[in-house]
Amino acid sequence: MATALLTIDLAALTQNWKALDAKTNCETAAVVKADGYGLGAARVANTLAHAGVRKFFVAAAEEGAELRAALGPGPEINVFSGHMSGDTDMIHDMELTPMINSIDQMLRHVEALPGRPFGVQLDSGMNRLGMEPAEWAALRDITEQQTPTLIMSHLSCADDPDHAMNTQQLKVFKEMTAGVNAPRSLAATGGILLGPDYHFDLTRPGVGLYGGLPFAQAQPVARVSVPVIQCRDVEVGETVGYSNTWTAQRPSRVATIAGGYADGIIRAMGPNIDVYFGSTACPVIGRISMDMIGVDVTDLGEDPKMLDLLTEDQTVDVLAEAAGTIGYEILTNMGQRYTRRYSS
Ligand SMILES: *Cc1c(COP(=O)(O)O)cnc(C)c1O
Repeated sequence: MATALLTIDLAALTQNWKALDAKTNCETAAVVKADGYGLGAARVANTLAHAGVRKFFVAAAEEGAELRAALGPGPEINVFSGHMSGDTDMIHDMELTPMINSIDQMLRHVEALPGRPFGVQLDSGMNRLGMEPAEWAALRDITEQQTPTLIMSHLSCADDPDHAMNTQQLKVFKEMTAGVNAPRSLAATGGILLGPDYHFDLTRPGVGLYGGLPFAQAQPVARVSVPVIQCRDVEVGETVGYSNTWTAQRPSRVATIAGGYADGIIRAMGPNIDVYFGSTACPVIGRISMDMIGVDVTDLGEDPKMLDLLTEDQTVDVLAEAAGTIGYEILTNMGQRYTRRYSS
């Protein structure tokens, strides 16, 4: 085997969903966009459906169509990007629920698929998706003829509980939805942790399910182990990898492992991460290549067959910090080349 192994702990995924669900008195959905944050939307969603999730969210109708094929009829599949031009057949045939973002989308939906369910996405300040107050005011009447399945908005700073934007968006969302007779949703993972004011009727966690911050109590879900292709002795003064950035200061044993930046092991992480043999940390040395990484295994006293990159200790957020990014990006960059294995 010369590809890295991505092991996904479905029991931990379920526990994370239950732990987030237990923090509220409302319904808890699951966000499985970007192929379930890189962990496999079909397996993730089927596992969560089994645990009791009845509502799922994806970014695009194409993702929704794949998810419907995996889940079968029943669970609600909601599409954040709404009813895009060209999506009508998919929305109809795969029974997707678009979160309508604009007057244009609303007209497209009621003309093409009259009577079919839709939700409404409002902009409460993030200025990314959703209707502005004026657009929404012009459209609210339509929703008296057909009740939206959901009225939702999204928080831009919920990972920072003290940020003034949270209360600001909460206020705007309450104003925009006052008197509307439809279920409401504002909170993703971060919003759940902000407390009951933010929960409304439905929450939409994503990253917390997969073991990432801001849900600090999350159980790790993903583990990455990388096979060793070759080990060699390196003399004092010899260098390893592109640009000769590492020079042996002692007689060294170097392992070359079968993963690199094409597998989402971001090149900038190199100087800041280790790989693990059991609980023993082995430093990454030299530049991370596209498909390979050099590792100093001198102190192990044996040649390992596999080394672990993503573990309970070196979590997605530790890797993210090492690369100057966020756990979301680490998870969703997990390469297609990984062999995925699911444990439960
Ligand atoms: C991605 C996303 C979520 C889930 O966010 P997490 O921070 O991963 O929990 C919820 N709602 C919307 C609109 C999103 O784009």
